Amino acid sequence: MIVNNSLDEVKKRENALSVIKGIVENKGRDHLFDLTGLAGGFIASKDELSLLETYIGPAVFEEDLQKVGIEHMGGEKIFPLNRTSSGILATILALVEEDSYVVHYLPKLPAHPSIPRSCNLVNANYLEFDDFEEFYIPENTSLVVVTGSTMDLQVIDEEKFKKVIDAAHSQNIPVLVDDASGARLRTVIFNQKKACDLGADIAITSTDKLMPGPRGGLMAGREELVNKIKAKANQFGLEAQPPSVLAMLNGLKAFNGDALIDSFSRKDELYDLLSKDYDIFEKTPNGVMLSPEKLASYLDTDLCDSDLSFILSMILLKEEGIITIPAVSMPGASATIRFDLSTQDAVKLELNQLINKINSSFDMLKEVIKNKEKCKEIVFN
Ligand SMILES: *Cc1c(COP(=O)(O)O)cnc(C)c1O
Repeated sequence: MIVNNSLDEVKKRENALSVIKGIVENKGRDHLFDLTGLAGGFIASKDELSLLETYIGPAVFEEDLQKVGIEHMGGEKIFPLNRTSSGILATILALVEEDSYVVHYLPKLPAHPSIPRSCNLVNANYLEFDDFEEFYIPENTSLVVVTGSTMDLQVIDEEKFKKVIDAAHSQNIPVLVDDASGARLRTVIFNQKKACDLGADIAITSTDKLMPGPRGGLMAGREELVNKIKAKANQFGLEAQPPSVLAMLNGLKAFNGDALIDSFSRKDELYDLLSKDYDIFEKTPNGVMLSPEKLASYLDTDLCDSDLSFILSMILLKEEGIITIPAVSMPGASATIRFDLSTQDAVKLELNQLINKINSSFDMLKEVIKNKEKCKEIVFN
């Protein structure tokens, strides 16, 4: 294997970031197309930036974030965190007892790794189900987790969502919703309710997913639980810092579901164009994706599936300036390559231009997979 473990993934990510820096410095930001759907952003005025001091920043911006955050997420109280993963960790540290069960229902595996990893830290027993018929809550369960939309943007069925919440509540078990992208995808595209309005006790979303905000986690929920989780998060430094809080606030204010809705129809066009040459792409709600398994089925090679994804993702970046998640992701993230059409960069890219970039990258991929050393060089140097 080329990318063998978390250390390799960090090395790959560092390489991707230095490629990005090189493109920005040598060619300009216009030569990069961030199609990750995690484009993020940092909207802030000069006056706001001048208030970014350790105690003054939170006093001003966290207060405003309460109102804007509750409009976006529902619930009684908002708590901003460094990442969604930090919010999941803080919740599990605060609410889950050793040896108890944490039961997770999600529309499709795999779960975000922060959930099982956090359970592991507190020595809880973790069960996960993507088949609703098999889902059950054992005795001695301290938390039920529901994922609203998975890393690969598979969206939960709202009826099942409600049933899982009701089942947990009938046993007085709190429900945490991992709504990283779901808080927007489910509500805007699928017309579902906010997780807190469906009865979730705690919901958390990623403020750089499908909205122009910074990497961060926005938690909402029942005040009493949020307070408990906040105390735990503060003990371990998991809370968002004032600059992120400011950018979350402005990102939420600037969020507009129209780009998400447009990408919903444009992805059909992209899918049809790609399907003329490849039968390996799948639709996502707002773009197309290529799983490592499908990519491997298309190529004649003994390289492993995820390595092929990493190599293609790095070629897309180095040769075409297209940023997709496998190149830049943190260890353990999904190796699926997604082309998300709801981001600002996607809007300025013609679909034909994008197809040409994908075609050229595939041509190069077919060549380089004949030479493992060359593949390593593409991923790590
Ligand atoms: C992105 C994502 C996360 C983690 O978000 P971070 O901000 O990177 O910690 C968790 N769960 C799901 C379903 C995600 O898509």
